[in-house]
Amino acid sequence: MPVAIHPSVDKGFKPAGRKFSGGTLTCKCAKDPVTVKVTSQSAHNHACGCTKCWKPEGATFSVVAVVPRDSLSVSANSQKLKVIDASAAIQRHACTGCGVHMYGRVENTKHPFYGLDFIHTELSAEKGWSPPKFAAFVSSIIESGTPPDQMKAIRARLRTLGLDPYDCLSPPLMDFIATHVAKAKGVLKA
Ligand SMILES: [Zn+2]
Ligand SMILES: [Zn+2]
Repeated sequence: MPVAIHPSVDKGFKPAGRKFSGGTLTCKCAKDPVTVKVTSQSAHNHACGCTKCWKPEGATFSVVAVVPRDSLSVSANSQKLKVIDASAAIQRHACTGCGVHMYGRVENTKHPFYGLDFIHTELSAEKGWSPPKFAAFVSSIIESGTPPDQMKAIRARLRTLGLDPYDCLSPPLMDFIATHVAKAKGVLKA
């Protein structure tokens, strides 16, 4: 049996829907769920092994994507949301009822990811979100208790699923961050 990565990727996944333009994310509360409306397709969807992202019970990785912050709004029960760690670069707004992270927002205007909100598209019933393309912070799953001797099998499984495993972010995103830093420092002209 292959190693479990995440329920939404373990059986493979569908390509992005043509002209797909968002949906509604709903938390796991049976009563008065928090809902978040997103009016754009997601980008940079990926499996994340870090210890901060929300993941469903039993999953080894979270699956997380970004959308423009202008396209996201809380549409019901916003009073149940609380920021998990206000000092973190990504402020994760979690439901105090069920613990699900509804969105993560970057508030620091100098941060490379300012303008983007992080979301878990599995919280939406709509089909057509952009599928995951890589796996980030793979080594970090050891910090949540994965035995190190399973890492080889897990990286192999990720490659089979088409999710190239990286121990930070993917090279294009690392280049994007470094470019932002270089511009801020004035090292990079134009
Ligand atoms: Zn909830
Ligand atoms: Zn993460």
